[in-house]
Amino acid sequence: MNPVIPVFGDLTDPELHHWLTALGNAIPGERFMALAEMTAEQKQRATFAIVANPHPSLLQQCPNLIWVQSLWAGVEKLLATFQQTDIKLVRLIDPGLANTMAEAVLTWSLYLHRQMHIYRQQQLNHTWQPLPYVAPEDRIVTLLGLGELGRAAAESLIKQGFQVRGWSRQVKQIQGVHCFHGSEQLQAALDGADIAICLLPLTPQTQGLIDTPRLGMLKPGACLINFARGAIVDDQALLASLESGHLAHAVLDVFMTEPLPKDHPYWRHQQVTVLPHISAQTRADTACKVVARNIRQYRRDAVISDAVDFTRGY
Ligand code: NAP
Repeated sequence: MNPVIPVFGDLTDPELHHWLTALGNAIPGERFMALAEMTAEQKQRATFAIVANPHPSLLQQCPNLIWVQSLWAGVEKLLATFQQTDIKLVRLIDPGLANTMAEAVLTWSLYLHRQMHIYRQQQLNHTWQPLPYVAPEDRIVTLLGLGELGRAAAESLIKQGFQVRGWSRQVKQIQGVHCFHGSEQLQAALDGADIAICLLPLTPQTQGLIDTPRLGMLKPGACLINFARGAIVDDQALLASLESGHLAHAVLDVFMTEPLPKDHPYWRHQQVTVLPHISAQTRADTACKVVARNIRQYRRDAVISDAVDFTRGY
């Protein structure tokens, strides 16, 4: 019989129970258990685990782990811990998650494109003022990040008729997307864009990347969408750009501190939409299929799915 697979991390008891049930249903023949309920022998025998941002001390309870499967797509909180071990970290790469993110990107791009942020203000001020229509092909939308989520988002924006630009670390060719890469081409990607959308991982290179000069490259009246990680945006620079009127609106789903502190200026800022980190929540139904495939591949061929590259940081 296969060893028990531990499941642990930053989950409430109901969340943990939900994942144990979903994993058990999706992967018959495997036994999943909460780490806290496993015997010392079961912990010894475990060679891989399912985790959700676990505290480092929990990993030490299973001394023979070869790899772990994260239930989340973003893994920046785990890098420091894993860099000190030989354990491979497999993040969640789920087409279901990418579709959900693409839907969120399209929803908010259309909201901003159709100037709903301005009509919202008009309603608050009892102002009746139709604005000229702008066609999507006359809007430039720049995606920062062309990974699993960025590429799916690009497809939905192209179908909608927007001019789509994308920016990544390495050279990319994506049909319908004007692709830029590397720090030297960031300006060209942002220059004159109407909407900039952040779908980058948080790394030392991307921390604070969206700062005053970068925001200044966007078209006057442009909008920012951050669906990646809060620390990629310089909050003070963003607030100053909104105050100056250069930036018209920001849709923020992620923040330096989450939940967003009650006294944070974003809450009451009329040019900011605050979302509670919901643009692409992990869905157990689609995520479990991905986890099932990775586990079967490992059991059958001892092959571990693509692991996070600790040197590049994502
Ligand atoms: P991914 O597949 O790893 O893609 C990351 C993209 O960013 C790649 O195109 C990569 O370039 C690019 N990139 C990384 N560092 C760069 C740099 N220094 N300069 C230029 N480009 C750089 O990640 P993903 O699955 O698309 O997810 C992206 C992020 O979304 C996650 O890290 C997570 O933080 C966030 N996320 C948010 C939510 C939410 O609900 N808000 C949900 C899931 C994920 P290359 O292609 O050249 O490598």
